[in-house]
Amino acid sequence: MELNILTLCYLIGSVTFIVGLKMLSNPATARKGNWIAAVGMGVAIVGTIFLYRDDEGARLHNYAWIFGGIAIGALIGTLAAKKVKMTAMPEMVSMFNGMGGACAALISLIEFGHIHDISAEPVGKLSIIFAGLVIGSVSFAGSMIAWGKLNGKVKDFDFPGQHMLNNILLLAAIGLSSWIIATEPASAPQLIYAVLGMALLYGVFFVLPIGGADMPVVISLLNSFTGIAAACGGFLYNNKVMLTGGILVGAAGTLLTILMCRAMNRSLMNVLIGSFGGGNKAAAAGAKQQGSYKEISLSDAAVVMAYANKVFIVPGYGLAVAQAQHACHELEKLLEAKGVEVKYAIHPVAGRMPGHMNVLLAEADVSYDKLEEMETANEQFESTDVVLILGANDVVNPAAKTDPSSPIYGMPILDVELAKAVIVNKRSMKPGYAGIENDLFFQKKTSMLFGDAKKVLQDLATEIKSL
Ligand code: NDP
Repeated sequence: MELNILTLCYLIGSVTFIVGLKMLSNPATARKGNWIAAVGMGVAIVGTIFLYRDDEGARLHNYAWIFGGIAIGALIGTLAAKKVKMTAMPEMVSMFNGMGGACAALISLIEFGHIHDISAEPVGKLSIIFAGLVIGSVSFAGSMIAWGKLNGKVKDFDFPGQHMLNNILLLAAIGLSSWIIATEPASAPQLIYAVLGMALLYGVFFVLPIGGADMPVVISLLNSFTGIAAACGGFLYNNKVMLTGGILVGAAGTLLTILMCRAMNRSLMNVLIGSFGGGNKAAAAGAKQQGSYKEISLSDAAVVMAYANKVFIVPGYGLAVAQAQHACHELEKLLEAKGVEVKYAIHPVAGRMPGHMNVLLAEADVSYDKLEEMETANEQFESTDVVLILGANDVVNPAAKTDPSSPIYGMPILDVELAKAVIVNKRSMKPGYAGIENDLFFQKKTSMLFGDAKKVLQDLATEIKSL
């Protein structure tokens, strides 16, 4: 009976994960979807703690450890989530993703430690233990480096022969795992730590050289690794809800990786063998001195937009930094009240995490049907009077089309220069994430409107009201 209730708990968990994930695909239902999946996870955890019995029929007994761990984790998680600034969300997501990978790797280590006679264990079980260890460790180490890169503490770093070393490390970790499984040596309990070390090193070296424009692909790839590693844990424990959760995260991460690859114009194979990047050298190559740029005053910018037929807003990372999404929505409403058609052009890697701009604008209740994806926006720029760029830089950099030495060369960008006029709001002439100059800022059609995005948008709104 108890087992049946536990199965029911797992069924509830699995179904809520699927429903929750489906609801996450729409900003209007995303929050609710998150809650539903979290409640399902809670049911599965509580069910496991109180109803699980092992093969001998024994229940879990180490409640102090379990509830101690849950209390500490819940406290840290709640405080971190409450304290985190919206701009630090991407790095927090990366850190949490890494924790998932670390859990999967620890599960493998602990379960391997429980084995008394390795020769008596089926090859399938041992393979899953090692797969979980390698994939989980790569995900943990890689996500920690990604976390450091997103918060600016870790710089791109590579050295001659790095890709070769990466491949050797990965092959060595897989090779040693296979050898242990095949030959069942007496030193296996020690050798598993060598596999762990190699997988961790691979994770570090795999992400370290990744330059500006390639980070989104790596982040979604690491996300799928964590899912796959968690699914290995599900196989190991024959735990259906863990398996479902892992497979869902793994599949969603893989799909996101494919979409990000397409958005960045990279092949998945390029990503997998680590032969991409760009890093500092390429960034330096792209950082050349440009000519002069022109500025526009607030009042002129307000007039140009208020008397336009069609305005496209291009949000970027700077909009998130300034927390200017509400001010942006205000400006949109004011322009529409003056008869201007206003739309948003969303680049797939704008901001610092997949879907960053969608989340940001949804928070300010910007209507979803005003958001145009890159391809559609590019078709519409020619018939657009004004493009207002708010804290975006790399995603509108024409070097991606024209400069083969640029680290973002080949990445599809928003072709804003097709519009009649371009107004760029940022605080200075400093480069964006990829660390390169932007030729767009020096073009004839472009005018710079310097200042913090929130303040500039509020001042623009005041100007437009007075027209
Ligand atoms: P960028 O990082 O290229 O540029 C952002 C610009 O915003 C900066 O040039 C900055 O200029 C400006 N800015 C910063 N703060 C403010 C502010 N308060 N007010 C106004 N402007 C401000 O952003 P994009 O969105 O164009 O491009 C995203 C980049 O991040 C790409 O290179 C992408 O590959 C990378 N990336 C994306 C990830 C994703 O999943 N989306 C993940 C990891 C990396 P200034 O300092 O002069 O104000």
